[in-house]
Amino acid sequence: MNAASEIPPVAIDSSVVAGLRSIVGWAHLLEDPDVTSSYATDWTGRFKGAASVVVRPANTGEVAQVIALCGEAGIAVVPQGGNTGLVGGGVPLAGEAVLSVRRLSGITDIDERSGQLTAGAGATIAEVQAAALAAGWAYGVDLGSRDSATVGGTIATNAGGLEVLRHGATRAQLLGVEAVLGSGAVVAHMGGLMKDNTGYDLAGLLCGSEGTLGVLTAARLRLVPPSPERAVALIGFASTESAVASAFILRRALPDLQSLELFQHDGLDLVCRTTGTAHPFATPYPVYLLAEVAAQRDPLPALAEALDSVTAIGDVAVAIDSVRRSQLWRYREGHTEAINTLGAPHKLDVTLPAPVLAQFIDRVPGVVRRVAPRAQVWLFGHVGDGNVHVNVTGVPPDDALVDQQVLVYAASLGGSISAEHGIGTAKRPWLHLNRSEAEVAAFRCIKAALDPMGVLNPNVLLPPG
Ligand SMILES: Cc1cc2nc3c(=O)[nH]c(=O)nc-3n(C[C@H](O)[C@H](O)[C@H](O)COP(=O)(O)OP(=O)(O)OC[C@H]3O[C@@H](n4cnc5c(N)ncnc54)[C@H](O)[C@@H]3O)c2cc1C
Repeated sequence: MNAASEIPPVAIDSSVVAGLRSIVGWAHLLEDPDVTSSYATDWTGRFKGAASVVVRPANTGEVAQVIALCGEAGIAVVPQGGNTGLVGGGVPLAGEAVLSVRRLSGITDIDERSGQLTAGAGATIAEVQAAALAAGWAYGVDLGSRDSATVGGTIATNAGGLEVLRHGATRAQLLGVEAVLGSGAVVAHMGGLMKDNTGYDLAGLLCGSEGTLGVLTAARLRLVPPSPERAVALIGFASTESAVASAFILRRALPDLQSLELFQHDGLDLVCRTTGTAHPFATPYPVYLLAEVAAQRDPLPALAEALDSVTAIGDVAVAIDSVRRSQLWRYREGHTEAINTLGAPHKLDVTLPAPVLAQFIDRVPGVVRRVAPRAQVWLFGHVGDGNVHVNVTGVPPDDALVDQQVLVYAASLGGSISAEHGIGTAKRPWLHLNRSEAEVAAFRCIKAALDPMGVLNPNVLLPPG
């Protein structure tokens, strides 16, 4: 259906190619398949397409001209940032043109007093974090793909990540955006006012729209006070139930809790084997929690007191210096790359209501194996948000039965089929599990109003028809 199939690029009239080239310049209109192929394959390798052309505009004006020309010529466009998305939404699976925003990468207008900055859509999250730190602040979004994922991509997907339980997802960081709508109109509301109830929240609407309504070109971002003192605990548990119950205790006990992650023994073992790292404890545990506390003063006493109140702990390792903290984090952050060494995984990213979270984690491998007996299931994620990443290997990329099983099971328990990665092309057939007909009809009205020519990501988010 949507995975690695050999899709030819859509032929574009040479006069349109010439027009695009005159907008962005020779060096930034790419046609050679050897060059464009990296823009056409997603990070996992599961989604492979072919770009008719890759266009790399330098500024908002050029983006607007590209969209206007493609609209007139009836050419579909896939906006792309860092190409770290995991649901096939940023690659040209139907031979579309790719509009890469990576050249829009400036970070400007840093306001050290109010804690705000303006970032081009092509700036990476690591660059925003560094700029915030240099100004005495921090950016409230962090994720494993920070060195490549862009401001535009994280807004388009409303990215979550490792600090949602403290600072909220990307939408909560937005004070305004600038974007070129599918109609070609440029909208910008970048005043950075904390309170501004002057009509529809366009920034909030474009956030999470997955490139279907507009191309984000810049954003005004709020920063958060820095929390330089950190402590990390890795905790082993004998059961999922006890780990999840303890996670809720830690959330309540630790106001400075920054991250709360869960993973299992199989995943930890894979990370250790792939990276040549030793296991953290002499005895293996079925389930682990990784908790990071970040504060302006020593967070260790509060962490120690909270850990004392958790009775189900099997073993615990605590780190305060940055080298040891990174080592503990590596057990969690190494999962994505370690799993990719086994072949293109099916990556399903779901949220569950708290009362059924442990049940889902324990039962979902059986749900998968009912349709794919030889599949391997890897479970990890941001447990503090109820968010579980279900990764399945050993299944052909275009076999969607596994995806269906997992998503139907999550929805049947009252969960969401997309916690933070978006719908993309991968989950379009199952949007109805979470969204009513009336909601999807409203989505289509919004799409038709902001992208009347249907230029932007026509194969993403909304189900066909
Ligand atoms: C190792 C790893 C760890 C990850 N961890 C997390 C995590 O913890 N939390 C999380 O939420 N995600 C995570 N992701 C997924 C991914 O990094 C995010 O979805 C991220 O927001 C994508 O940003 P990007 O710039 O790479 O966007 P892309 O992959 O380029 O695009 C993603 C989507 O946004 C659209 N888009 C991109 N740029 C624009 C723009 N300027 N205007 C309009 N639309 C645009 C694309 O068309 C596509 O639909 C992870 C990925 C990897 C590889």
